[in-house]
Parts: sequence; structure tokens; C-alpha cells
Amino acid sequence: MAILLQTEAVERARLIAGISYTVDLDLTLGDTEFGSRTVVRFSCSEPGASTFIDLKAVSVESITLNGNDIHPSAISDGRLTLSQLQQANELSVTARMAYTRDGQGLHRAVDPADEKAYVYGMSFLDAAPQIFPCFDQPDLKAGYDLTVTAPQDWVVAGNSAAKQTSPGRWEFETSKPLATYFFTICAGPYETVRDEHRGIPLALHARASLGQDLRRHAPQMLDVTKQGLDYFEDLFGIDYPWGEYHQFFVPEFNAGAMENPGCVTFRDQYIFRGSVGRAEIMQRSNTILHEMAHMWFGDLVSMKWWDDLWLNESFAEYMAHRACSAATEFDDAWVDFGISRKNWGYAADRAPSTHPIAGNAADDTDSALTNFDGISYAKGCSALRQLALYVGDDAFVGGVRDYLRDHSYGNATLADFLDAISAHTDVDLDAWSKGWLETAGTDEIAVVVDGDPIGVVEAVRTTPEAHPADRPHMLDIAGFCGGKEVWRTPVFTLGATSGEQTPLTGLERPKLLVPNASDLTWTIPVFDDNTLAAMPDELPKVEDPQVRQVVWAGLLNGMALSTVDPQTVLAVFEASFPTEENESLRHWTARLVRRRLGYFLPDAERQEATERIAVAATVALDAADAERAVTPGRLLAATSSDEGMLRRWVAAEDLPDALAGDLDVRWTALTRLAQLGHADDAAIDAFAAQDRTMAGEQNALRAKAVRPTPEAKEWAWTQLESNASLSNYEALAIAETIFVAPSSELVRPHVERYFRVLPKLADRLGEFASQKIAAAAFPVGVTEQATSDAAQEALRSGRMTANVRRAIVDGTAELDEALASLQRFGR
Ligand SMILES: [Zn+2]
Repeated sequence: MAILLQTEAVERARLIAGISYTVDLDLTLGDTEFGSRTVVRFSCSEPGASTFIDLKAVSVESITLNGNDIHPSAISDGRLTLSQLQQANELSVTARMAYTRDGQGLHRAVDPADEKAYVYGMSFLDAAPQIFPCFDQPDLKAGYDLTVTAPQDWVVAGNSAAKQTSPGRWEFETSKPLATYFFTICAGPYETVRDEHRGIPLALHARASLGQDLRRHAPQMLDVTKQGLDYFEDLFGIDYPWGEYHQFFVPEFNAGAMENPGCVTFRDQYIFRGSVGRAEIMQRSNTILHEMAHMWFGDLVSMKWWDDLWLNESFAEYMAHRACSAATEFDDAWVDFGISRKNWGYAADRAPSTHPIAGNAADDTDSALTNFDGISYAKGCSALRQLALYVGDDAFVGGVRDYLRDHSYGNATLADFLDAISAHTDVDLDAWSKGWLETAGTDEIAVVVDGDPIGVVEAVRTTPEAHPADRPHMLDIAGFCGGKEVWRTPVFTLGATSGEQTPLTGLERPKLLVPNASDLTWTIPVFDDNTLAAMPDELPKVEDPQVRQVVWAGLLNGMALSTVDPQTVLAVFEASFPTEENESLRHWTARLVRRRLGYFLPDAERQEATERIAVAATVALDAADAERAVTPGRLLAATSSDEGMLRRWVAAEDLPDALAGDLDVRWTALTRLAQLGHADDAAIDAFAAQDRTMAGEQNALRAKAVRPTPEAKEWAWTQLESNASLSNYEALAIAETIFVAPSSELVRPHVERYFRVLPKLADRLGEFASQKIAAAAFPVGVTEQATSDAAQEALRSGRMTANVRRAIVDGTAELDEALASLQRFGR
């Protein structure tokens, strides 16, 4: 299928305008296809000219342009050429389209719990033409008149209010102007919880089998929704623009969520079916606020072309955390941001695939998606946070309000955004933008102290050699002794030299010196040797969770850059995890250490590290009250080698109270048993029979693929390679454990297979899912130079889509970091 080039989009936008769509979808035609009848009206500024419309149909019954029939064979490569355009045009297309299982287009999934089918539309990034013919580019906005025919017991909702005019027949109000990539409908026997807030109708929806959990979680989600609506309306000075606000939790969703105006879709794992910790509720609340921020920034004002996708995401990421910490119970949202989102972004910024936040040419729609990474979200968010500090919050918010008001229902660019901020400040934003937005790489900041007691404290910035840049940083530095903060001072460094700093005198030299202590800026904090040596003792005593988070950022970056010994990271984890009070820090350090640390240790030391992590989890679990037992309980289930305990947990015996009745932790214990070679097919199938759900099916695949036998690994590869009926989620479940093994020997023979098979998955499972699967399966655990060489060879000679390539480039970057660390620390 043809990929839209930016040059084509510019030309098409020059020719056509005044678009409206009348779309009639029929969802009663069976399990594989749906009917799509569309009338597109548009004007053309150059009568006689030609353009094209995007259409990806299974079969086309009829096409009429301005009364003249066009033979369906005129469609080529997903495009229909429209010739001899008049000033006013009307195109009618009657077609049959395919339901998908890859999370793009109109995805249809059947819930094994009750055999009920669910449908949702995901048009991002360029999948709208799989639902109806359209001019698929973000700056050709249009109003929609939508009707849907669906089975009579289904709920149907979309971007504007709908009502059922006869059984199974739904008519939508004419929508406000929307970019094509926001078009959605959600349809199925969804369970619904309704509410309203100051006249805005609210609804939460999930599969019927999740109904009980939906109702259990609904009050918290509705609270956050209302808090967010109040906060954003007040901050932006514009009322919520889209009428009703539906939030659908849908199956097999690739991303976290999607900001379709008036009808947000979320991955339905957010309707937690078992026990849940505070960090996960915070993450869900944050996602709710992220998508809500897009209702204004992204939806009301949209980017002109995909090269400004970062601004959408950076902005929503920034606003979600700002709203979360200011307007909800999660006042530590920036701690969560620092430990979860920033680590994702730092890894992306260390990799050879790093790129500036802004100004990355997106010549076509595929390359646009590759920049949809931790730099666009987390680093961009940090840059906006710096911008607000740099120009002052009033100027920042004033600019944002002007931008949203002046471009409502239209499109805008980065230049428009910076112009809007500039109108409120005398600060030179060109220079700021060059340093922060138009260059790649992360500065390191160290603190140098002179004298004892201290004479001078100074922050020193080092810019990465490969990416020199002049970035002004607003931050603070702090010193700690026995966990007590002994001093803290704001710093404003400009360029390579230190700027205005307050010399501190007469203070004792601290045990911990922490640059960027409040985590205000995007930097790698560098610790001196004394601080590193004192860390296992000192860190657990530090009271401010933001400081502990910054220390973790320094440790994890240091491990990746071979400046911190992975054994130091393990020692700090052991010392701090059992007493860590902040749930985000517990949740994310457990996850990061469990997933990443092993790669930095040789095969022979990995088992011992896992055992030490399990001991830390046990100590934490013993000390935890019910509310705080979830994270250590899960960590223990994933790392314990105690076969008896694992078997009891699988049987729901001896589970900590907080995890009683939690099927997922029992699955984790069973998967761990399988990993240790203590659970065969029959045991896994028997457990799956008790959990006939989508999650149960995926968990069973994950457990089968993790077994440490050549036969199990062969089975997993055959599934990935040849089972065409696997959904995106099922393939991902297998990918997650296919290279997990007690020793590299078992999986080394499959490294070659990875590079042969994974690129082909994009044909079957689409760009989005195949990137995730390629990333999850990447053989970083076979931590050998030969793996890196095979990756380089595949990148040189293999044919693969831009997004699978990106996953392999990033996997190789992590592998190379681990190899360098192994060499540096003599293992
Ligand atoms: Zn977003």
C-alpha cells in the first residue's frame, strides 16, 4: 500500500477544501467484513485538476464521482485517482472492508469468556482508509454525518452524540471538524457506567466480562475525569469542546490509549481485574488526563503534518503530570514521571537512533511513527517544563491559551506555538529552541565542591560529544547527611559554563551530593565516588522521594553508560526496596531491576542476582501492610526459586492477603514455575481452563514459551512464524518470553531466526504491533558480540519496515551497553 508523502499532502491540501463525509457502516455482515457506504463532498480550487483519495477495501461495489461511474479497478495501491474535478464535487463509494486483529482500522475481537464480539476503530496514524474512503492527512479536517447498523444488543458510540433511531440503527449528530486520524466508532455489547459533570455526559465502557471490575474502578476514574475537566477548562480558558465524553476500554489495544475526540480508547488492562497498587492507579489516572489534555491540544488544534507529532505528545505528557499533581490525590506524579517515563526517554536519547525533539523531517507517514518514542513524550515534556520555568508560568500559560484560541478547529505548527509564547515574554526563544528542541543528546551535570567545610558549590554541565548543544538548565542541587537535607540551592547554568550560583560556605561536606535534586531538568546526574560508595547506606534514609528518584535516574543511566557497576545498582536496590515508601519507586525500580539488570551480568551471575532480588522482595513483603504488599508480592512470584511456595501460590494457598483471589499473580507464579522447568503443557492448560479470558489465553502462551526446553522454544517459534490466527496480543505474549532461558546455550540457535522471522511479521500484524513484538523479543539476553554482529548484519542487508528497524536498532543499543559494561567491570 502506498505511504503518503508530505509533498503529496501539501499538494492535495492546496487543491481541495470544504470536505464533509457522510458515512454509513454496516456491522451486521458477519465476522470478517463490514459494509462501508460513503459520500464525500469537497471543493477544488483548480477545476479540471486531479488528486486522489485513500481507500483500503476488500471489495468495492460501486464508485461514482460527480454522477460518473468509476470502475473499481481504478483503485491501485490503496488510492483512487479522482480526475476532472469540478469546483464542487461529490464522490460516492460502496465497499466492503475487513475487520482487523492488529489493533489498526476496525479491530474485532471475540471475548473467550462469553464469546461476545467487540469492535473499535483506530484510525491513527493512517488506518482511517481501512474504514471509509478519505483524504487521510491531519490538515484536511471535515465534519462527519455517521450512521451505523449493528446487532440490536450492541452499544455504539463515536466522536459525536448518537441515538438509536430503530433497533440496531444508530444516527450520530454532525461532528465538529475532525482530522481523519481521530475517526472512531466503538461497538459491541459493552458494559457502561454513566455519569455527568456540569452538563457534560460521561460514560465508561468495557467488555461485559469485565463489568464487575469496571464498576469497582469507575468511581475513581470518574473522579479523575471530573478533576481533569475542571482543571483543563480553567487552565486553557476554553470549555470542553466535544459534547459527550466517552472512555472505552477496548481489547488488544496496541498503545496505552488514543485521544479520539469525545471517544477515547484505552487498553483494557487498565480495568485491573485483580489486586492493584497505587502506582498502577496513578498511571491510569495519568493516562486519562493525558488523553483529556489532547481534547484541546491535538484535537481542537491539530498539527499540520506529522513532523509536529512530538508537540502533541510532549504537551499532553506535560499537562497530564501537571494536572495529576495539582488536581488529584497523586501529588507525587512527577516522581512517577521521573522513574517511569524519563528512564524510557533517557534510553532513547542514549541510543544511536536518537534525534532532536523537534524538526525531524517526517517525509512520509511511516517515518513519522518511528519518532513516536521516549524522546517525543518524556524528553519533550521535560523541555516544556523547562520552558515554563524559563519564561515564567504566566507567560507559558498565556501563550498556550492564545495558541488554542487562535487555531481552534484548525491546524498549527511549532512556529505558531513558539510565537504564541513569545508574545508573552522578552526571552529569546529562538536560542532556547535551538538548544533544547533542535539538538539531540542528554547533558550530564555533576556537582563540584571545594573545601571542607564547603567554600564553593558548583554545577558543571558536560554536553555529549556527538551532540554538542548550548542548553540553559534551570535546576537545583542538594546535599544530604544521614538522609537529612543539609542544604539545597537553585542553579541556573547556561551553556558550557556555570552561571549564577550562590556560593555556600561553612557547611559540612554532605555524604550524598545530588544534582537536579527536584528533577526539574533533563539531565544525567553524575555522582562523585564518595556519594556512590555511601549510597546503599544513605539513599534509604533520604526523605524526599523526588531525590530518591533522581538518584535512581543517575544509577540506571550510569549502569547503561558503564560508569556505575551493576553490582552497585543491585546493592542499592537490596538496601532500599524493603523500606521504600513511594509506590512508584517500588513499582518501577522492581520492574527495571528485574528486567534489565541481568543483561549487565554474565550468565553465571544472573541466577544469584535473581535470588538476591527475591530476598529483597521477601523482606519487603514481610514488612508490608496489605496496601503495600502488591508490588513485592508480584516481584517475589516472578523471581522466587522456591518451588513449593510457587506451587502453593498457583493453587491460591498462602497468598498474601493483598493478593488473595488475584489470578494474575497466580499466573506469574505459574510462569515462573514453567521458567524453572516445573510446569508442562498439561499444567498450563489446566490452569488456563480456570481462566477462560483473553488475559488467560495470553498468559498461557507466555508460560508455554518460557519453558526451558528446545521443544518449547521450537513450539514458540513455530507459533510466531506460522500461526496466522494469532492476534497482536497473542504474538506479543510469546515474544515476551521466547528468549528467556536459564542459559544462553538454549536460545543462541534462535538468534539468527529472530532476524529472519521478525521483519516478516509486519506484513501480518501491521506497523504498530510488529514494532512492539520485535522490541519485546529482541535477544538482548544472549549478551554476546555475535548477537550484536548479527543485528548489524540484519540492519545492513535485511528488508524490514521502518518501525521494525527502529526496534532492532534500539535493542542493539541496549545489548551494546550491556556488552560494554561486562567488559568495563571485568566480567
Ligand atoms: Zn498522546
